[in-house]
Amino acid sequence: MVIFIMYNPNSLRAEEFINDEEIVRTLSYAEENKRNIPLLKEILEKAKQKKGLSHKDAAVLLDCDIPSVNQEIYALAEQIKKDFYGNRIVMFAPLYLSNYCVNGCLYCPYHMKNKHIPRKKLTQEEIVKEVTALQDMGHKRLAIEAGEDPVNNPIEYILDCIHTIYSVHHKNGDIRRVNVNIAATTVENYRKLKEAGIGTYILFQETYNRKSYERLHPTGPKHDYNYHTEAMDRAMEGGIDDVGIGALFGLELYRYEFTGLLMHAEHLEAVHGVGPHTISVPRVRRADDIDPDAFDNGISDDTFAKIVACLRIAVPYTGMIISTRESKACRERVLHLGISQISGGSRTSVGGYYEPEPEEESSAQFDVSDNRTLDEVVHWLMELGYIPSFCTACYREGRTGDRFMSLCKSGQIQNCCHPNALMTLKEYLEDYAAPDTVRIGNELIERELDGIPNEKVRGIVVENLKKIEEGSRDFRF
Ligand code: SF4
Ligand code: SF4
Repeated sequence: MVIFIMYNPNSLRAEEFINDEEIVRTLSYAEENKRNIPLLKEILEKAKQKKGLSHKDAAVLLDCDIPSVNQEIYALAEQIKKDFYGNRIVMFAPLYLSNYCVNGCLYCPYHMKNKHIPRKKLTQEEIVKEVTALQDMGHKRLAIEAGEDPVNNPIEYILDCIHTIYSVHHKNGDIRRVNVNIAATTVENYRKLKEAGIGTYILFQETYNRKSYERLHPTGPKHDYNYHTEAMDRAMEGGIDDVGIGALFGLELYRYEFTGLLMHAEHLEAVHGVGPHTISVPRVRRADDIDPDAFDNGISDDTFAKIVACLRIAVPYTGMIISTRESKACRERVLHLGISQISGGSRTSVGGYYEPEPEEESSAQFDVSDNRTLDEVVHWLMELGYIPSFCTACYREGRTGDRFMSLCKSGQIQNCCHPNALMTLKEYLEDYAAPDTVRIGNELIERELDGIPNEKVRGIVVENLKKIEEGSRDFRF
């Protein structure tokens, strides 16, 4: 007997909200309509209202291969990026705590069968050193990462690490937001993470295709597709209302992942009233015993840019993250199409900020394509006309989940982001920047003050900038 599983975004069952048949139907609808000019025009008109698109409509845009329509898609993505995020780019750094892992993921060198990669786990003393080094670079926002290993990396270890990170205050440094990227876990553990004061809980789906997922995760607890896919629902049940989703592009057909990501976002919105806080778009990279060519769904830079643009249009309120997996050139290309957060000066090994690892002992999860320092990235962004922002205000002001989303949807959040970006950039310039970065940074701040429409707010910012020069820190709206 054949059992049909119906698509249902309101369901809490993975096979219903990420429904394979619905994805396959969407992909053939997109294929059939990718040159349907009246429909494409209708979708673009809908998109211009800046309220997002359904996975079905977005998939048609992604498939479209008419150059003039694609130009419109890119222009609209750029406009939406400007309207929602201005010229600000939020900065963060990853901190790998431990690469012990009991899973068998075929695309990651931390898989359990890899016997030659050095296994490391930071002690609390080492974390103090790493965090001090990160603060000395100027970072305020971290994403912590750890493999899944109930013996080496139990939840108590992760909680201790979060506590240690928040407790380090070196010179004028602070880590003000810790986002957490650890394996799918229980409601109870998510509750503990919430109580520890985390920002976003991040978990990549890797691939939304169940068959590929099971093949790529042959062993370990991560093999369970449903448990992994339903993790964000448990996180929300545990009180975490900012969650970050992502797919690892290159494992499966990119159209499939794109549709899966949007269906996941629709599901979270339908069930919890708030979509994902962020979407990440990593691509498979070379690492220790991993050859990206072994995965035959790799995508070109052009396709990558199209994915970013279509996501920007489909989920305007969701931040988009790109890491140092991507090169400077690729990052430059997608920044204006929709990316709102980037990492800088990253180490993808366990530790490595306090003391760089010798190459022959590398514990890195993947090879970094952008090796510049944070100061070089900040300088480069400003030369391109962006404001590097070290803002972490929302979560500290309790603006999370639906509170955050409703502010976003009303456009009010812009009145916080822009002044906060200028004030946190000023802190960076005062405490950490190289002389030339200071020079162009101060010029940029001067110019950007005019972009604050409210006179009263502008006055407060001018005053706070002066106070920052005099030594005060941590102003925010
Ligand atoms: S992707 Fe995560 S779960 Fe899989 S092997 Fe790497 S660290 Fe472990
Ligand atoms: S004000 Fe909130 S949304 Fe804006 S940059 Fe800061 S933390 Fe992000």
